[in-house]
Formats: sequence, structure tokens, C-alpha cells
Amino acid sequence: MRKSQFPWILAIFGVTAFVVGGIPVLVIAIVFVAVIYLLSLRVHPRIRHGRCGGTGEHRGAVFTWTHRRCGRCNGGRLIRWGAGRWGSEPIRNEYRRTAEARATARRNGTWR
Ligand SMILES: [Zn+2]
Repeated sequence: MRKSQFPWILAIFGVTAFVVGGIPVLVIAIVFVAVIYLLSLRVHPRIRHGRCGGTGEHRGAVFTWTHRRCGRCNGGRLIRWGAGRWGSEPIRNEYRRTAEARATARRNGTWR
């Protein structure tokens, strides 16, 4: 996660909750944020892969117009780590399937 993407609003929310009501309100705030996170995993289960900038390509350093496929994502897109665990069932299945396919391709050297 890049620094600019850190959800600062959640940190501010947590600090404010603690200042206003101490530990009990902070606990309520954490539960509230957890529910929001789980809903977010349902509504927005996908992300761009950061390492390849969401392009799905790794550019050559010398012949710069060339590229190979990124072996860590699917065409620049990934399913969120949390969605692979707590998302809807089709998303969890897709997460597992694509992760296995990438691992197999890397093992066999067929991912480039
Ligand atoms: Zn990638």
C-alpha cells in the first residue's frame, strides 16, 4: 500500500473515538470500522497490482518497448487479500483459483 492510499480518515476516526470516550468507545469504533471493511470487501473486491502499476507488464531495461507478463497478478488486476478470505463465495473461489494458476505457471516457468 502506498502512503497516499492509507485510509487516514479511519485513523482520525479511531483517535477521535478514543479521545471522546476512552477504551469502550474505541472498541465500538473498531467494531464499526470492521463492519465497514467487510462491506467494502463485498462491494470493491478488486485492486490494481501495485508492483506493475496495474499494467500486468514488466518492461525491459534495455529494449524498453518489450515486456513480459507480470507473474504476480492477472493482467494487472488482483483480488484483495481480505476479499480472498472474507469476501463472497465466488470471489473467494476466484482468488484461490487464480493464485493456484499463477503458482503453477511460475513453477512450470510458463508465466512469461
Ligand atoms: Zn502485476
